[in-house]
Amino acid sequence: MSAAPQSQKPPTPMEPRIGKWEIINGRVELSASRCLSCGETFFPSRKVCLRCRGETMEQVRLKGPARLKNFTVIHQVPAGFTKPLVAGYAEFEPGVSVFAPIDAPSTELTSGSTLLDVHIGPIRTDKNGDSLIAYKFRPFRDADRG
Ligand SMILES: [Zn+2]
Repeated sequence: MSAAPQSQKPPTPMEPRIGKWEIINGRVELSASRCLSCGETFFPSRKVCLRCRGETMEQVRLKGPARLKNFTVIHQVPAGFTKPLVAGYAEFEPGVSVFAPIDAPSTELTSGSTLLDVHIGPIRTDKNGDSLIAYKFRPFRDADRG
């Protein structure tokens, strides 16, 4: 019989099934992994490279600003989300993109040029009505660099 799973209760409920992050010097950094054989970077982090099957990975951090690649406005959202939901892909470095909700009206966004910062905030409510937090994007402002 296997050991019972460790009970781990985060201080704030987090969205399950997504990549991990750390807050370093007040800034959110996403925890990714890079294959030492082929250089491919993955977020969420992986132990085995999907591209070359290499098993030697290094931890790398992705931090903003990232460039908005493309986005969509979702009007029919799953339960717990607020509509309309703006979400999109932001590129942190060539070939390394992350999908997340964006805290901005679509009218403020331009694919290919808007710079986005990563922050943490509520993205939806669970079936009990509690907010779940996760990483999200918002327009990057130089003043944030303080
Ligand atoms: Zn690889």
